Amino acid sequence: MNSDSYILVVDDQMANIEALGELLADQYDVHFALSGQAALAQVAKSKPDLILLDIMMPDMDGYAVCRQLQSQLETADIPVMFITALATPDEETRGLDAGAVDYIVKPFNPTIVRARVRNHLAFKHAKDQLRLLAQTDGLTGLANRRYLFERLQAELERVREQAAQPFSLILIDVDHFKHYNDSQGHVAGDLCLQRVAGVLKAELRNPDDMMARYGGEEFCCLLPHTGLADAEQIALRICRRINELAIPNADVEHDAQRVVTVSAGVALCTAAMASVETLLQQADRALYTAKAAGRNQVKVWV
Ligand code: GH3
Ligand code: MG
Ligand code: MG
Repeated sequence: MNSDSYILVVDDQMANIEALGELLADQYDVHFALSGQAALAQVAKSKPDLILLDIMMPDMDGYAVCRQLQSQLETADIPVMFITALATPDEETRGLDAGAVDYIVKPFNPTIVRARVRNHLAFKHAKDQLRLLAQTDGLTGLANRRYLFERLQAELERVREQAAQPFSLILIDVDHFKHYNDSQGHVAGDLCLQRVAGVLKAELRNPDDMMARYGGEEFCCLLPHTGLADAEQIALRICRRINELAIPNADVEHDAQRVVTVSAGVALCTAAMASVETLLQQADRALYTAKAAGRNQVKVWV
């Protein structure tokens, strides 16, 4: 597990970098930066699991680097350990107040640095796993409802504040699923939901897209930078793919033997949208129209 951990060592003195590299490179994937700015540039490219940070550096000191990392949502959770010659309690307090998880004074004891690095990495990995669990639906492995709402709120703010492109939302509901569940049993129902979720997930093309389990047999797809026409095409493709699974189910209204199908409602979120709830309501109304029109189809809110 350890060799996968990516540690960034930041120090303006090559000798210090070499000493820490020698100490850690046999166990971890260690990278280096010779200035605060270079460190931030590297973090923007690829997020380390732990940063070992010097304080006294020209241009941008370690405190400033740490505060900058703390101020951004994407980097605030990267643990920072100061390794510095500044040894007074005031300096140490300042480092911990800037958001560091640890503070080590040079010259350091190699065994203690290794042990502390190991402990902070273990804690970081445990936190990462916990976050992933808190965001994931247990049955399908898709994003859960809580994470969906977080992302929706963030996307709405992005569209409003950065005048970014609107985004689209698709609400997807399995047709006549109560019948499937009642006739096949709950365990088969769960398996069916897992297969449907697998297809939904596979239809996403962009890494920013999100497929979430919205409720029991309802799913929600968030498509950043996507207009209604494209979102409708994606929803139509999803409907086709679910049909192609060819899982037998009955159309209880028409007393006919069919396959498992889904209906979908699509809505667009522009800067004028009142709230996430309003957007979901619009998608839900479009979905209701698709259901009323006979299911196994897509309707767009206009
Ligand atoms: P419609 O086409 O109008 O959507 O009809 P429906 O039967 O799909 O809708 P309804 O809301 O009446 O029933 C949904 C059913 O989904 C109820 C419940 O039995 C089933 N369900 C919800 N969550 C789960 C789940 O986690 N596992 C299983 N097996 N079934 C679930
Ligand atoms: Mg349903
Ligand atoms: Mg439903």
